[in-house]
Amino acid sequence: MPTEPRDAQARRDIGPVICYPDDTLPAPDLVGYIAARGSAHKIDEAIAAPREAATFRVPAGYFFRISSVDGPQVGDLNLWNADDLSERFYSGKTRALHGTHVTTGNRLWSSFPALRPMATIIEDTLSWYGIDAFGGSVHDVIGTRCDPYTHRLLAGGDYHHCCHSNLTRALADELSISRVEAEAHVHDVMNVFMCTGFTRDTGQYFMKASPVRPGDYIEFFAEIPLLGALSACPGGDCSSTHSSGAAACHPLLIEVFAPADPPAGWEVPAVNAYDRSHGA
Ligand SMILES: [Zn+2]
Repeated sequence: MPTEPRDAQARRDIGPVICYPDDTLPAPDLVGYIAARGSAHKIDEAIAAPREAATFRVPAGYFFRISSVDGPQVGDLNLWNADDLSERFYSGKTRALHGTHVTTGNRLWSSFPALRPMATIIEDTLSWYGIDAFGGSVHDVIGTRCDPYTHRLLAGGDYHHCCHSNLTRALADELSISRVEAEAHVHDVMNVFMCTGFTRDTGQYFMKASPVRPGDYIEFFAEIPLLGALSACPGGDCSSTHSSGAAACHPLLIEVFAPADPPAGWEVPAVNAYDRSHGA
């Protein structure tokens, strides 16, 4: 251990600065979105079976809802631009812009060079949860996804129904491509309904029983045409374990809604305006 400098405490006592103040971030017109949602009717649905994933498509300007049915269950969500899979959900930048967990009014941002809103959260029945005494909250963008590689590293053996594999199989089936090709498109997720945080003493990623109950849902507005994949995590409510067949698991319902008219004044967001020259 290196020796502390004499002014160690003074250095620690310096206050934090928000990396990305969001007061210049264009705000979504939630009132307009919710008005358009009022006129919408259901056009499609899919079920992510326990320890499996389902894909779904949402045209730009439409809505989709993810609901808990039957029992508490966490879902791992991937999103792509349906017309260009190289534009996909960017968990890290979404976290930098909105914080570790997302809720109503937050947006899911896409990868470089587009960096634009892919989806906007318009309703979240778990928004009451807030941040608990452990620093835990719901719907994180800090986890990655359970996967067979980390499982092998830490526990040995192969488990084939981690969210990473579920998403890979579902995308391969959706696009009629090989699992090897599909795997390259699978990315860090939004953990729908999952309750997580970082321990205060060691800074480790933790999970705890999700507060989600049947009937709870989170609803999104699709800013661009979306291809989505949702895995019903083998961890179930993530109260004890994942990456195994041990936890009680339940399905998740995905529903897609078409509005009579798109929200007033809304347009598909333009891709980021940076010229990509990266200087001289
Ligand atoms: Zn998982």
